[in-house]
Amino acid sequence: MSKITSIDGRILYNSRGSDTIEVDIISENKFMGRVCAPSGASVGKYEAVSFPENSPETGLRRLKENAEKFIGLESSDMTAIYDALKSIDPTPNYSKIGGAVAFAVSIASAESASRAQNQPLFQTLSSKSNFKSPFPLGNILGGGAHAGPGTPDIQEILVCAIGAKTVRDAIKTNLLVHKELRNILESQDPHFTNGRGDEGGWAPKLNNEKALELSAKACENLGYTLGQEVSLGVDFASSTQWNTKSNTYEYSRAGFENSPAEQIEFVSEMIKKYKLIYAEDAVHEEAFEEMAELTAKFPDTLITGDDLTVTNKDILANAINLKSCNAAILKVNQAGSLYDAMKFAALADHNSIKLITSHRSGESTDSHITHIGLATGSKMLKIGIVGGERVAKLNELLRLSEHDLICGMAEV
Ligand code: PEP
Ligand code: MG
Repeated sequence: MSKITSIDGRILYNSRGSDTIEVDIISENKFMGRVCAPSGASVGKYEAVSFPENSPETGLRRLKENAEKFIGLESSDMTAIYDALKSIDPTPNYSKIGGAVAFAVSIASAESASRAQNQPLFQTLSSKSNFKSPFPLGNILGGGAHAGPGTPDIQEILVCAIGAKTVRDAIKTNLLVHKELRNILESQDPHFTNGRGDEGGWAPKLNNEKALELSAKACENLGYTLGQEVSLGVDFASSTQWNTKSNTYEYSRAGFENSPAEQIEFVSEMIKKYKLIYAEDAVHEEAFEEMAELTAKFPDTLITGDDLTVTNKDILANAINLKSCNAAILKVNQAGSLYDAMKFAALADHNSIKLITSHRSGESTDSHITHIGLATGSKMLKIGIVGGERVAKLNELLRLSEHDLICGMAEV
């Protein structure tokens, strides 16, 4: 038992240099959990708001004004922490206190409990007796909301070393593909600056098709066969392109529009041509029926909801009913608190929806989500390949792979 004895917080910066909130929770006057909240650039319409009235200061002030509500609670009691948060902010999307505060308070409390129990966080979060390492899924090329003009409209091209037998091999392979892609980009464009998007993927001036073609070439140059040692994935982040007035997907950088039916065709061609193992938000965030069409058509691809399901269990229940996806992103700050996210994970697990625990484009250097990915039985961890805030999470996965309770890689 370890009761919370103090709670404090401050404004810090995230990887984009934007303000964010960090919270310290101490139990028994000595066991500290410290968590800094991330935030997204391509944000789902139905996710928790990061900060009330767009102000990290307001979120932090409301937390400090209500600090007493947390004192004396059992730090491992996720429900009690959730109830305390809800007593301050009963709104469904944490609009009064902000998802950043809910994220930081709930995870810091669990971390404080794990320190009191003298065990790693993933073990505090799950009573399982054996865990599998999720495969790292990393961004090799960025576009959309994560990179500037001239880059592809689609947000992310990702690589996953699905043939790897160990975490180290998986990370190494992703790094090799990322490096080889740079070589190719330099050879194609002598003016390529080596610029990178928000999550560390290269940000070249290329259209969508060419970007995928060169990504596949990077894998092949290294002697890999797509679908064997490595596979590619795409986060289409289609809500970025979706225009609710014209009912079309506007690919403004490439200069074309897709009707909903053309979008399905566009995505299907990419999945087939590049043997994509992973397709995230291939249609916009309210297109549950079209997602279901893709899920039925591509049972061997992780047809994944991110903005579609926003780590919200009620929305996931609807997606499950409609068979809209076979995989879902878990981002704790989309849900708000860790309690909300764990409920989402349990529902996904119960319905054989594969989980992918994910970073945000604006990240901290924390690595709690690596533990959350392990505890939720996530098949993949979408945490990038390079950049300090990304590598921190990968390195934690490496450290944890030495733990006795972690045996082998997940089955994707
Ligand atoms: C994503 O869309 O999957 C993502 C990580 O980006 P963001 O954090 O900007 O939502
Ligand atoms: Mg996404």
